Amino acid sequence: MSWQVCNPATGEVIVDVPCMGQKETNDAISSAYESFYSWSKLTATKRSKYLRKWYDLLIAHKEDLGQLITLEQGKPLKESLGEVSYGAGFIEFSAEEAKRIYGDIIPATLPDRRLFVLKQPVGVVGAITPWNFPLAMITRKVGPALACGCTVVIKPSELTPLTALAAAELSLQAGIPPGVVNVVMGNAADIGDALLASTQVRKITFTGSTAVGKKLMAGAAGTVKRVSLELGGNAPCIVFDDADLDVAVKGALAAKFRNSGQTCVCANRVLVQEGIYEKFANAFSKAVQNLQVGDGFIEGVAQGPLINEAAVQKVESFIKDAISKGAKVLLGGKRHSLGMTFYEPTVIGDVKSDMLLSREEVFGPVAPLLLFKTEEEAIRLANDTNAGLAAYIFTNSIQRSWRVSEALEYGLVGINEGIISTEVAPFGGVKQSGLGREGSKYGMDEYLEMKYVCLGNMNSN
Ligand code: ADP
Repeated sequence: MSWQVCNPATGEVIVDVPCMGQKETNDAISSAYESFYSWSKLTATKRSKYLRKWYDLLIAHKEDLGQLITLEQGKPLKESLGEVSYGAGFIEFSAEEAKRIYGDIIPATLPDRRLFVLKQPVGVVGAITPWNFPLAMITRKVGPALACGCTVVIKPSELTPLTALAAAELSLQAGIPPGVVNVVMGNAADIGDALLASTQVRKITFTGSTAVGKKLMAGAAGTVKRVSLELGGNAPCIVFDDADLDVAVKGALAAKFRNSGQTCVCANRVLVQEGIYEKFANAFSKAVQNLQVGDGFIEGVAQGPLINEAAVQKVESFIKDAISKGAKVLLGGKRHSLGMTFYEPTVIGDVKSDMLLSREEVFGPVAPLLLFKTEEEAIRLANDTNAGLAAYIFTNSIQRSWRVSEALEYGLVGINEGIISTEVAPFGGVKQSGLGREGSKYGMDEYLEMKYVCLGNMNSN
């Protein structure tokens, strides 16, 4: 069996890929399990060198990988090239951090004892990833996993498996032994079930929708696997009266329209204070109007297609709901004349907190503007959601930026910045946006077990 990977900008079939299921997943798990022993026994320096070589190869193939991302995912080539640098950065960082996985020596409570904490790899890891960052969502799981001594079975999105295969091929070229990095693609539920059922898989790490994340978390209970989840967001972008207008417009634009609004940290609600609302709405709409829509391979294009028809229909239904409840289209609000799944970059004014645009993640190029009066109201509105991934605030007051950052129930806060993700900082959400952190030194702990070792009777001979 096979299925087709298509270019969302043209609908053209790029290639047929095999459709795998439980059997192939179990084979991949066995291969990861067999490789675990030798990979985990390598010195940290050796693993670090392999990862460094993989990083070098990813960078050497930046142009090819960037083109592959645009081809199967649709984002503008410039963003794809940015994703390659960002994604490769997780491998580089993991190569460096591999050498710093320290244990502890604990002062003993009895004179003839010595107490130690060892950090050891979790084991085989199942990594399930989405289509919106076909490379970076893989490397930020696989980099730390390999650095810690784990081996992996990757299940990329069925929409974007080609970048995953290319990255895995480069891992082999880097000398990482076969069996350490495995890729299975095909029927998501079958592959997921096989990963969940296996007692050899000790951890599931997932980026994707909250609904699937909950399923995986429940499924992991059967074998008491560890889970890390990066799920949906509902990011508020709060523009206060005292913000620098240009900085706020530029930041909100980047936070909202990157990847045509298809990231879990994209601003989902733009909350604007009464005194700056008109000015901001005008300047922001003007900036959005300048975003060129088209095939991501065309120079100057800032907005590619949405990933598929279902994504466009979701956007349409949210806008319909908002208009029926009194919101106003300030810009765009319909499919783009290019057809396919292109959608006009859109700004909607007079949005209220009961509308779908405020309650759920739109995952498209739609910026809903909500008016607020006081700082307290902004915080209340921002926190009035089950999600808690990224939040953005724009203000020139140091006191306010600190106060509001502390009050926001979110895992990441950008102050006067719309793009804040980096491999050196911890990325992850609170509430139903997930569990665990990726990137940074903290991300390593997700792939490590702690073992307490007590050496007793020290004085016996
Ligand atoms: P999105 O809506 O962003 O595509 P999903 O959560 O549906 O988010 O997809 C993220 C990843 O989860 C993809 O690789 C997808 O194939 C996978 N997935 C979807 N359903 C399941 C499932 N039941 N079990 C395991 N993986 C799944």
